[in-house]
Amino acid sequence: MSGTPHSLTLSTGTPIPTLGLGTWQSAPDVVGAAVKAAIKAGYRLIDTATCYQNEEAIGTAIQELIKEGVVKREELFITTKAWTNELAPGKLESALEESLKRLKTDYVDLYLAHMPTAFNDDMTEKIAVSVEEIWKQFDAIHKKGLAKAVGVSNWNEKQIKKALDLNLTPVHVSQVELHLYFPQNEHVAFCKKHNIIVTSYATLGSPGRVDFQLPNGGKLEWAPAPQDMEDQSVKDLAAKHGKTPAQILLRHTLQRGLTMIPKSTNEARIQENHDIFDFQLTHDDMAKLQGTQVLQRLFLQDFMEGHPEDAFADERVKK
Ligand code: NAP
Repeated sequence: MSGTPHSLTLSTGTPIPTLGLGTWQSAPDVVGAAVKAAIKAGYRLIDTATCYQNEEAIGTAIQELIKEGVVKREELFITTKAWTNELAPGKLESALEESLKRLKTDYVDLYLAHMPTAFNDDMTEKIAVSVEEIWKQFDAIHKKGLAKAVGVSNWNEKQIKKALDLNLTPVHVSQVELHLYFPQNEHVAFCKKHNIIVTSYATLGSPGRVDFQLPNGGKLEWAPAPQDMEDQSVKDLAAKHGKTPAQILLRHTLQRGLTMIPKSTNEARIQENHDIFDFQLTHDDMAKLQGTQVLQRLFLQDFMEGHPEDAFADERVKK
């Protein structure tokens, strides 16, 4: 993948595509078609997680494309994540091996700790493992070659610093909620200083999150929030550049020097989200978007509340 135009370089020295396909809420019966459409449109990064329950279907779709000669494994960048039960002591390596079986590959390009908090299987009990202990497990996995790069998601800067201070494998990537209305300026500056690539999730404002169903059929409660794609500045820039609001939001993120993984299972929108490399936002356009007054975290990850490693504890206190 070396030399591909749309990539950044990890501190491992290998490229990471700036744009990937997100797959949260992409059900197993539709995710395969989405992955195939994305790879045929030029995407090379697929983002999944154990808890999305679609690794098996993604692995099958990728195998089919490899057999058809559309793409080679080494041209792809597959990311998966260990859920909270897999972060419990002694569980990580076997969890990754199960993910690899489902994904039908010998390695992932990136393995993330989905959260900084460990729980038991049904999430009824918090397990008080420190982020340092979690990171030691990621270090071991990286050293074994099961994951070419390792990183974290939903960790705060203090937690990432604790992992870095172990002087083991560095944190290669931090995946966080990041969009127009939650720009994460401090987190981005911190990561830049420590040579960590930031991946934005919910780059489009995650409009589909409200439909999320828990495995037991239940629904999460979401606070009302303004929609990033409805922002007037975004709409004005879309008209100016002859692009869609989604493309403006993605291009803005790209020009901030970040990577992103917009989710879609719709072929036209998968293509649309990839068509962002043929135009440029001006300095003034970027300033207009950076100047938004709205600040809104969408993913509060309330289940972490009360856990000794709750990443957002300081923010909850401020409210
Ligand atoms: P998102 O990518 O901001 O938004 C996805 C939603 O926008 C879907 O409902 C999609 O519907 C719609 N959409 C996609 N392209 C569009 C377009 N061009 N115009 C209008 N609507 C469009 O939100 P997300 O899925 O929450 O986040 C992206 C990915 O980040 C996830 O899929 C997942 O891989 C990852 N993620 C990680 C975490 C974490 O804790 N690490 C948390 C959340 C998400 P259609 O499918 O119908 O197009």
